[in-house]
Amino acid sequence: MSPPTTFDINRERMIEEQLVARGITDQRVLDAMRTVPRHLFVEDAMQAHAYGDFPLPIGSGQTISQPYIVALMTLALHLTGSERILEIGTGSGYHAAILSRLCQKVYTVERIDGLVSRARKVFDKLRYYNIVSRIDDGTVGWPSEAPFDGIVVTAGGPRIPEPLLDQLADPGRLVMPVGGQLVQDLQLVEKRDGTLTLTTLEQVRFVDLIGAHGWPN
Ligand code: SAH
Repeated sequence: MSPPTTFDINRERMIEEQLVARGITDQRVLDAMRTVPRHLFVEDAMQAHAYGDFPLPIGSGQTISQPYIVALMTLALHLTGSERILEIGTGSGYHAAILSRLCQKVYTVERIDGLVSRARKVFDKLRYYNIVSRIDDGTVGWPSEAPFDGIVVTAGGPRIPEPLLDQLADPGRLVMPVGGQLVQDLQLVEKRDGTLTLTTLEQVRFVDLIGAHGWPN
C-alpha cells in the first residue's frame, strides 16, 4: 500500500473532528466519507481547503456543502444499499458520490450544465457508474424514474416541491432545507402508509433552489 497523502490525512481528520466528534457514529456513512476523495470535487486552487469544516465555492455562484451537513443529510435517509435515490442539485457531485457508495443507484439533477459536465468527469474518473445525471429544473423531480426510496434536495426553497412528495416511495424519506433565502430548517419528511411526518433536524444555510416549485430565477 502506498503511504497516505496529505489529502488522506486531512480526510481522516475530517472524519474524527467534524463527524465523530459531533456524534455521527454510523459506520457505513463514516466509511463512505472516508472513501470518497472530496478534494477531486473542488477546483484545483481550492483543493488544500477541501477537508475544512465549511462549504466551498465550486463556480457559477454555487457551493459544495460542509462535510458535516452532507453526513447529516445522508444519515437521515437510513440507506441500507438497495435504494434508488433522487438528488436535486448535483453541484460538485460530491454528495451524489457519497450517496452512490451507500445505495443502489443515484439519480441527480442540476440546472447548470457546466457543473453537470464537471461532476460527470469526476464520477467517470472514480468509476462511480451507479450515478446518472440530468440537466433540468429538479423541482419537478424525475417523473419517468419515480418513485424514489429517498430524495435529497441540496438547495434551499420556500417549501417542499409537491412533485417531489408525489415521487417519494411509501415508505420513503426526503431531506430538504426549507425556509427563507438566508437561513432554512433542514427538514426530514417520512412517508409511511400514506402519511407524511415532518421533523426539523438543524438550522442550515444553503444556496437557492431555483425553479417552478422553488425561488423564481
Ligand atoms: N450537492 C451539491 C451541493 C450543490 S449547491 C454538492 O455536493 O456539491 C446546490 C446546487 O443546486 C447548485 O449547484 C444549484 O445550481 C443547484 N440547483 C438550484 N436549483 C436547482 C433546481 N431547480 N434543479 C436542479 N438543481 C438546482
